[in-house]
Amino acid sequence: MDDTTELNAWRSRLSALWPDCGALRVLNGEHDTNLADGQRVYKVAPATNETDVIDLQWQALQHVRAKSVPVPRPVATSSGEPLAYVDDSEQQRTVWAQEWIEATPLAKCSPCDGELLEALGGAISHLHDALEDFEHPALERDLRWRIESTPTLAERSKHLQQHPKRERIDQILSEHSGPALKRLAQLPTQALHYDLNDHNLLYRCKPGAKPTLAAIIDFGDMMRGARIIDLSIAATYLLPKSAHPLRSLRAFVGGYHQQSKLSLGELELLWPLMLTRMVSSMVIAWEDECRGNDDPYRQISQAAIHQFLEGALDMPSNEVLRHLAAACDLDDPDQATLDWIADPGLAPKSLFKASLANAPVLDLSITGAHATDNPVSPELSEVAQAVDALAPAGKPVLGRYREPRLIYGAPFYLSTTHGASERRTIHIALDVFLPEGTEVHAPYDATVLSAEVCDAEFDYGGLIVLAHEPIPGIRFYTLYGHLQHASARALAPGDSIKAGEAFARLGAPAENGGWPPHIHFQVSTTEAPGSEWPGVVDVNDLDYWIRRFPDPSRLAGLMDTRALSPITNEEALRKQRAAHAPGNLRLSYGDDPVTIVRGWRALLFDATGRTYLDAYNNVPHVGHTHPHVRASVDSQMRWVNTNTRYLQPIHSQYCEALLEHFPASLNRVFLVCSGSEANELAVRLARAATRATDMIALRAGYHGHTVTAIDLSDYKAGGPGGNGVPDWVHLIDNPDTFTGIHRDENAAERYAAQVDDVLDRLDERALAGFIAETFPSVGGQVVPPPGYLSGVYSRVRKAGGVCIADEVQTGLGRLGHYFWGFEHQAVTPDIVVLGKPMGNGYPLAAVVTTDAIATAFDNGMEFFATFGGSSVACAAGKAVLEVLREERLQENAAEVGTYLKSGLEQLATLYPVLSEVRGEGLFLGIVMVDAEGRPAAHLTRYIVQRMREQRVLIGSDGAHHNVLKIRPPLVFSEADADHLLSTLDAILQESALRSS
Ligand code: PMP
Repeated sequence: MDDTTELNAWRSRLSALWPDCGALRVLNGEHDTNLADGQRVYKVAPATNETDVIDLQWQALQHVRAKSVPVPRPVATSSGEPLAYVDDSEQQRTVWAQEWIEATPLAKCSPCDGELLEALGGAISHLHDALEDFEHPALERDLRWRIESTPTLAERSKHLQQHPKRERIDQILSEHSGPALKRLAQLPTQALHYDLNDHNLLYRCKPGAKPTLAAIIDFGDMMRGARIIDLSIAATYLLPKSAHPLRSLRAFVGGYHQQSKLSLGELELLWPLMLTRMVSSMVIAWEDECRGNDDPYRQISQAAIHQFLEGALDMPSNEVLRHLAAACDLDDPDQATLDWIADPGLAPKSLFKASLANAPVLDLSITGAHATDNPVSPELSEVAQAVDALAPAGKPVLGRYREPRLIYGAPFYLSTTHGASERRTIHIALDVFLPEGTEVHAPYDATVLSAEVCDAEFDYGGLIVLAHEPIPGIRFYTLYGHLQHASARALAPGDSIKAGEAFARLGAPAENGGWPPHIHFQVSTTEAPGSEWPGVVDVNDLDYWIRRFPDPSRLAGLMDTRALSPITNEEALRKQRAAHAPGNLRLSYGDDPVTIVRGWRALLFDATGRTYLDAYNNVPHVGHTHPHVRASVDSQMRWVNTNTRYLQPIHSQYCEALLEHFPASLNRVFLVCSGSEANELAVRLARAATRATDMIALRAGYHGHTVTAIDLSDYKAGGPGGNGVPDWVHLIDNPDTFTGIHRDENAAERYAAQVDDVLDRLDERALAGFIAETFPSVGGQVVPPPGYLSGVYSRVRKAGGVCIADEVQTGLGRLGHYFWGFEHQAVTPDIVVLGKPMGNGYPLAAVVTTDAIATAFDNGMEFFATFGGSSVACAAGKAVLEVLREERLQENAAEVGTYLKSGLEQLATLYPVLSEVRGEGLFLGIVMVDAEGRPAAHLTRYIVQRMREQRVLIGSDGAHHNVLKIRPPLVFSEADADHLLSTLDAILQESALRSS
């Protein structure tokens, strides 16, 4: 009905019933023709004999609306009738109307993440609660979508023989649908929506916010059934599009269960009913296609469903149920076996001749005493040394179950569906380290399930799985990894082994994947060959994995919890912090803070081994935990850590090394502990040199948190809680040629000329100086136009002032082509302030100035800062300069910075919200604007938060808080840049940014 004449005809017919009916357009619909005018949806049924179904919808909508379920309001005709009959050219039709809801179908919204799905589960449970007491005769209809009809539907299908997935359809019907439908008949029933597909779930997608549910629509398929049917229908359409279907299913079902409890019996049906619904969807779409009725609306979900089914059938139903039971915190399907395995009264035969009773425990956790130094390419020899140090030769050492570890460096530990920042980290077995060749004994009578050799580096080597049934009804499996290849080759599936019998020997590193000799002892209630048992799992699904692979301690004869790694409780940590932290000591990322326990180069790790790419922190200049910096600090700490009142070689060595990077005129160094302290001192120097007080500073500038520094920082003094800058501070504009007031080729001179205005206003008062970040960072990663600082400096100096360059953020090679920002501006400041990156995290800051200014300051009062320039601080600073040189990190900043900037510029051509990419080297900013070109702080916040959810850390800044800030450690690589760019690219496609 796309033709305009016909639509106009309909408009005039409908105007007789709803007089304000506007211009119409056609919406997708399977059964009815849906016409919309922006105020209402007019539902035109194909014939006149469907008044009972329309009545059903009217009643249901009103019923659930009264219970605050978000659904459209049905709208009566002007004469108060719920429906009307209308003649179109061919026949008489029935028409009724609902209010129009301005929203987007979930199918077109993103991210459709766990948070959204959990809320959706909750909303559907609310709908079900509301429908529980709803009755209507039409609920008993038998539409072809009724789940119980699926086998008959398939049987009757004329064309099914030719369906490309016919075998799968048959398999689902016989293996899954048949048994499930029988059990379904025993569940209580109620009114259901029966078509909760992702086109009938409307979402509000506001710029800068995640989608929120606006309305559940289209109640035209309502029938009676068990509530699990509705969940299975919704999941059928949501899961095929998810990057991690089981995780999505868990979030969705968990959200439902939080509101109304589901039973294990109901959960058991979810997966087979989903598969059954997929079959009905496939059969119906196929029939329609074969009949030439190729309606895109009906075909819409088919591609995704077909693809999903490729992998879905490999997932055992029992495992899906285990995931769901874990999500709902219900008993496991194999709870009896799990209880048996955990029973303290167990009396298994010992795995080894040696007793494990007093064996020491290796701590390989993220910051454990025996964690390897390099968390990305770990040296397994370090594990071997730790084992040797813990126990005399030949005595056992234990490795813990459920322990987060970073020793799994091989690519197969990456969770491929989730990009490079996700890897499996939780060891879900028990290790026992003993010499190679040590015999392993079976804990119970067993049958060999599988015996194989897994030969890759880091893999298992010889691997055996045994099946046990110690008492009828209790069946479980034990896995033994890192064995001699010969042990695995000597056994075949089906072989019997007696309890206590030695059936294998521990392998040497050469044949066990490279590990120090040990057994990886894992238990499962699920039958699967050894190569299908992950020994290390993803922390995000840990509640599932600990059911699938329970604690093997008891089966190994351990009667205590020594070999069970504790789990960090982030909630407790948050509470602990809240108890002592003042309110404005803020955490980044609001309700979703990042816990950090370890760093390495440009990576950060939480206590469970989750990995974050750090593209934000500029303090770990040469990379987090750089070994050379650590070693230098450590060794200096060993000799002495004292102050500048004593002659110390390290102090002079460092100051000389630092001054090598400065113009000759800047030759005096004061070492202090922080950027704020350095700026305080810089202002004292300026005042001593000029005997004046007043300073010129930049709008939106930041120089630190101390009294004078805050006064100079318009970003703070002029922001929330500030009192504005004091009268001795005179502000001029941030030289921003993109969003600032001057943008033309004379911008440098025009911005610099603002100094003249200040000087005019100063009148009789003398000027002490000018302070600015060379590239304003909190001001929004601004690169001043060439000539700006020379214009400012010459005016300030002419007025008797001195020029301070705050290089806290820009210094030490970050800008790539320049070691200092002032080189870019071709000026030499009188005073340079340094901080953040100097000690790679060790508190170290500096003020570097001229002889003349240092002499003016030397007025008889001693300068002394207790910790400033301490021996260890100097060692840290010196090591940073050495690494910078040796690893050519300034050059890396130039190369990777250029690469990243061009990648960002490329994105900016695709996404208009990115309006300008600015910066030099690894000091980059992206200005974000809305569709009208206005600063878009909300979109900036959204991106920072979403990047964090994808484990990439960036920041935001700027006078309008609309500049994405990227300033990673200088070891950032091209691969890191690619990861950042692809993550950002994916986020830019989300609904929150699309609509703006
Ligand atoms: N100046 C600038 C430009 C800064 O960015 C900062 C810190 N963000 C400071 C000074 C103050 O340094 P600190 O926090 O070490 O006192």
